[in-house]
Amino acid sequence: MSGFKDKVVLVTGGSRGIGRACAVAFAKAGAATVVINYAGNEAAAQETVKLVQEAGAKAEAMKFDVSDTAACSSAVESIIKAHGRLDVLVNNAGVAVDALVMRVKDEDWDKQLDINLKGAFALIRAASRPMMKQRGGAIINLTSIVGETGNGGQAAYSASKAGLIGLTKAVAKELASRNIRVNAVSPGFISTDMTNVLNDELRKKLVDSVPLARLGAPEEVAQAVLFLASDAAAYITGEVLKVNGGMYM
Ligand code: NAP
Repeated sequence: MSGFKDKVVLVTGGSRGIGRACAVAFAKAGAATVVINYAGNEAAAQETVKLVQEAGAKAEAMKFDVSDTAACSSAVESIIKAHGRLDVLVNNAGVAVDALVMRVKDEDWDKQLDINLKGAFALIRAASRPMMKQRGGAIINLTSIVGETGNGGQAAYSASKAGLIGLTKAVAKELASRNIRVNAVSPGFISTDMTNVLNDELRKKLVDSVPLARLGAPEEVAQAVLFLASDAAAYITGEVLKVNGGMYM
């Protein structure tokens, strides 16, 4: 996909899984610079840096906790200082702490809402000003199938991901006149560290519920993110694009 020449991209949670696949996809699509945020996994972040460089883009690993709103503001400021612009923001960092609702601890509720939802809000708030100044930008939020359907044992995670859909639509309306498009990608079950913890029985049950009869690959989600960030999606904003093998239509 073309159209990313000279573009600066920030992918949160870019050290592993879907975030890494997005970072590499933007590099392959010709982006100038990909900034790879991560929480603590330095080795994985450096591996993504290497892959992005091999794909032909400049890469920079940037460690900060997306639930820290001040750190989000500083991160965007430092990107603007170093690279002069920020064209694409991919809010991908996320965590899931599964528990039945009666057993959800306050701190686990807060953690999921703070990382998955507040983090995306904080980065959108920080990125919107420079994007307005440069008269354009694209923001893609990684929601989840369970944000659309709900899932037992995932009250906090589902709430955070449903919240991201509301956030996406509200900000899409607010920023459309400034040529900033805001969309969400909603993966089903994708093969990453997040789903590798599932036992064989649960994995089989999940696969049985997918019409395409397999888990998705991170690269397949990254292609949807790339599309929504590209000029090919110039008339699409406020959309939630499902990448779920038909699991929920
Ligand atoms: P993953 O493999 O578990 O990777 C999570 C990423 O988020 C890592 O890069 C991690 O950094 C980063 N991260 C976690 N907490 C962070 C924080 N506080 N600040 C900054 N970065 C943080 O996840 P994934 O499966 O690729 O999922 C990516 C996104 O897609 C998530 O939002 C997830 O909810 C969503 N999603 C995934 C699936 C799926 O089936 N996998 C389905 C639907 C939606 P470190 O490496 O430094 O820990």
